[in-house]
Amino acid sequence: MNVSSELHTFIAGLPKAELHVHHVGSASPRIVAALAARHSDTRVPTAPEALADYFTFTDFAHFIEVYLSVVDLIRTPEDVRLLTFEVARDMARQNIRYAELTVTPYSSTRRGIDAHAFMEAIEDARHAAEKELNVALRWSFDIPGEAGLEAAEETAHLATELGPDGLISFGLGGPEIGVPRPQFKPYFDRARAAGLRSVPHAGETTGPETIWDALNELGAERIGHGTSAVQDPRLLAHLAEHRIPLEVCPTSNIATRAVADLSEHPVKQMVDAGVLVTINSDDPPMFGTDLNNEYAVAARLLGLDERGLAELAKNAVEASFLDAVGKARLHAEIDAYLAAWLAS
Ligand SMILES: [Zn+2]
Repeated sequence: MNVSSELHTFIAGLPKAELHVHHVGSASPRIVAALAARHSDTRVPTAPEALADYFTFTDFAHFIEVYLSVVDLIRTPEDVRLLTFEVARDMARQNIRYAELTVTPYSSTRRGIDAHAFMEAIEDARHAAEKELNVALRWSFDIPGEAGLEAAEETAHLATELGPDGLISFGLGGPEIGVPRPQFKPYFDRARAAGLRSVPHAGETTGPETIWDALNELGAERIGHGTSAVQDPRLLAHLAEHRIPLEVCPTSNIATRAVADLSEHPVKQMVDAGVLVTINSDDPPMFGTDLNNEYAVAARLLGLDERGLAELAKNAVEASFLDAVGKARLHAEIDAYLAAWLAS
């Protein structure tokens, strides 16, 4: 069952918020070409056709290899600024009006980019995006879990000592297997004491106990993925009761094989259990998707029409860390868009 072209058109124009999307992981072939052109020693191709091939992944290891080759293109504060602003441009094209972008500053500072210059670059891009593209960006600084406690220490330091105005939350990404969540508690404690919200990835590739750890040890206020929550009815009930949203990324889950097939994706079970579900794109160009496509996937999996899709968009606004005024404004935009669509 496919989504009608009319529904695609509705989704494309729907004002949206995105809560789970990674900075480097959002580098589209267009952006990668622009970055590669700045660094002539790279093996990343710059011609659009060659790049399309380059972005066709054979397996997950290949995805990691390509991801790291893009990380290697981000060497100067100007690269950081270019990436950030161009990611916002790709968002504006999809009518994403607000995004909490997951940034991993450790991968840049470790590579020698000055921390202050890094913060200036992302903030400069944020201000320009708001003014020129009408996209509001906020930052979530995340610990790359695979880099261990040294990365956790550096990320907590950057977030609490140098965190820019746009920083609102603190996260934890990377692999879950072999990277237990509780060891990161002291870093989350520090970030939360500094007023940052807690948004770790959990339950993407491991079971519900990782989600419990994220809640109990890291004070999670939203869960990145949370796919395995459906294995534990008590956990689903807890998430629903305490209004702890899940950041669901359907296509990503297939690409990483966290879920075998879209037809087996548990998003419907999450919704049926009363959990506040948001739909997100994770590393969109790398998974061959974008947020509009994820909404189309969700419409199919959940059987949504225009009203249902507008509700889904409002879920993301509700689950965001916007203030009450910002939420009311975006809710009103979504309502107005739906009303105009239904009237025409
Ligand atoms: Zn993610």
